Amino acid sequence: MTADKKVLVVGGGGRCHAIVDALSRSPQVARIYCAPGNAGIGAQAENVPLKDTDVQGLLAFAREQGIDLTVVGPEAALSVGIVDAFRAAGLKIFGHTQAATRIESSKEFAKILMDKYRIPTAGYRSFDDFQAALDYVSARPFPAVLKYDGLAAGKGVVIAADAAEAEAALRSMLLDGSFGKGRVVVEDFLTGPEFSFLAFVDGERVYPMPLAQDHKRAFDGDRGPNTGGMGAYTGLPFITEEDRQFALKHILEATARAMCAEGCPLSGVLYGGLMKTPDGIKVIEFIARFGDPETEVVLPLLQSDIYDIFEAVASGRAAAQPCWRDAVTLGVVLASKGYPGSYPKGAEIRGTESVTAKLYHMGTKRDGDRLLSSGGRVMMVVAEGADIRDAREKVYAELEKISCEALFYRRDIAHWALDGRLLDGKALSASIQEGLRERIAGLEAKYGRKPSLAVIIVGSNPASQVYVRNKVRTATRLGMDSRLITMAEDAPEEVLLRMIGDLNRDPSLDGILVQLPLPKQICEEHVIDAIAREKDVDGFHILNVGDLWLGRPCIVPCTPKGILRLIDESGLDLNGKHAVVVGRSNIVGKPVAKLLLDRNATVSIAHSRTKDLKSLTLQADVLVVAVGRENVVTGDMVKPGAVVIDVGMNRNAEGRLCGDVDFVGARLRASWITPVPGGVGPMTIAMLMENTVECFIARMERP
Ligand code: NAP
Repeated sequence: MTADKKVLVVGGGGRCHAIVDALSRSPQVARIYCAPGNAGIGAQAENVPLKDTDVQGLLAFAREQGIDLTVVGPEAALSVGIVDAFRAAGLKIFGHTQAATRIESSKEFAKILMDKYRIPTAGYRSFDDFQAALDYVSARPFPAVLKYDGLAAGKGVVIAADAAEAEAALRSMLLDGSFGKGRVVVEDFLTGPEFSFLAFVDGERVYPMPLAQDHKRAFDGDRGPNTGGMGAYTGLPFITEEDRQFALKHILEATARAMCAEGCPLSGVLYGGLMKTPDGIKVIEFIARFGDPETEVVLPLLQSDIYDIFEAVASGRAAAQPCWRDAVTLGVVLASKGYPGSYPKGAEIRGTESVTAKLYHMGTKRDGDRLLSSGGRVMMVVAEGADIRDAREKVYAELEKISCEALFYRRDIAHWALDGRLLDGKALSASIQEGLRERIAGLEAKYGRKPSLAVIIVGSNPASQVYVRNKVRTATRLGMDSRLITMAEDAPEEVLLRMIGDLNRDPSLDGILVQLPLPKQICEEHVIDAIAREKDVDGFHILNVGDLWLGRPCIVPCTPKGILRLIDESGLDLNGKHAVVVGRSNIVGKPVAKLLLDRNATVSIAHSRTKDLKSLTLQADVLVVAVGRENVVTGDMVKPGAVVIDVGMNRNAEGRLCGDVDFVGARLRASWITPVPGGVGPMTIAMLMENTVECFIARMERP
């Protein structure tokens, strides 16, 4: 095959760089021009200093250079009718006509089309009258989805949480003229993971590409303002092949047929912005071109010659279904600090020459040898891997090579697919407590009295006061009898021991808890051992501890018991797994290790004298950290896929509550992880309540 084709790519962002990169792999393509291109594209194509909307200039250029095929990237060029103009001039071009582009540019056109051809999407109504729109929205449940009916540079969609937000958005869309004169489509709010399904489309012929998922928000954890996209990946684990087939048949192919029936056949890329809702896959929006940043992760997987596909679609001729590599890709966008708001330009970017993954330029320029930022989104690093985790590790390693103070990137691309899911101790504790509340009501009916708990506090330690009040309040809320006994800071030990003796003998009391720590004049051991073992709801009594280690029935300490419940929530079978416990205190580390051993885990216990903690934690299928120091465990110390339980409760430099584990770093590798707060803490109190109920039942049923 001779390489004699000349191709002109219209556009200049990362998407066009990926198109140019794919074309450069074609054995038929001799020369690639890109108008206007960018600093990175310039290494693979000849940049042409023409604007992407300068249709006459581009036409003249294509004629002069004898261009065989023109490929259009951005929406601006399509919406000014570049395809119609090239076709009228007898030039071959890949992209939709102005009439077909309406599937993206007019939300109402797309909605009417989907309605008419039964393509699954959210229910909607459209309005041009402000008051009518407001009345309709106000009478329906919130949130409401409001879409300006026209191109609005990604800013024409508002999810209004309440009537005030809806009114403000409708005012700006329909009254203030910020978007121009237009209509507003009001849609039902759908929930579920979103994904992008792109296909080359020529009339009724549809050539699907691999699925991808974009990350719209600026910051980790999907926080911050909406952007053009901060990263994307392929190989979505939450979309099954059945889902994909459904979307292909009932959405992409159905839409291609519908557009033919409407007399405006597609001849370019159709991008379905789809959502997997509880009621099936539905269309959120259609885009009539390559998506950015999805193109940058999808096209590197193309094995077939992209020139063949572009040429066939542009000529209206059937092509073979393209072949895609059986791998996944993941890409992370480097953006200027401040983006999507205002940001400085012209910052020097160093280190790109040592990047071995794909590097697509989005907003860069050259100044002699120097590479400078020139846009909000600056570049995207894309790596291929055997799986998402592999691709992600590679991308983040490559990003380390690039240095520029003025840029930032998200650290959590693909978190929908990979990140440790949260072990939500707050929710689990609430559901356990709800179960206990019902159980307690039944027990009262059966035995004629309620379980009862006494909580003793000595002194006025503010943190201890919060804890005891919380315990007493929770017990009362669950329907137990609870008493709070307060003793002075200087109370002698024998007074406390006498009080415990009285409570031990009180037949109406089932649980006794003495809040630790105690003032200096009181010995903790004496106090714990003075509590009747059958009322020792904390499980700290020497006989309870002995029974725990001998594997006999006993009262299990609350925090370790809660930790095991959280691990069970993850669904992990502990049999034969390696569990590493960091910390060896009597109240957390040691009992947790014993409970894990009882579940047939192989347990290692680490402490302050452990040498090379990282090599140990990296072996942990389950990692329990109870040290009491921030960042004792960092992300790189976590084995990929591990279940991570963070017991620590610390205050960081800003005074915020945090655990012992670097949550953001660890979450990137863990399969499940507890947050702090909201993880182990709430479970401790639920287990205290459960222990009290168990002590009550044991006492009532004792012969
Ligand atoms: P602790 O009695 O102070 O024990 C800390 C343990 O960490 C010790 O075994 C110590 O080793 C070990 N350690 C210290 N530095 C270490 C290091 N650099 N590497 C490895 N191990 C190290 O603490 P604790 O009572 O178990 O509590 C631990 C944390 O959990 C605290 O933040 C506490 O507030 C929290 N906590 C939370 C709850 C809850 O309900 N959420 C309940 C209890 C505790 P050595 O034995 O060698 O000194």
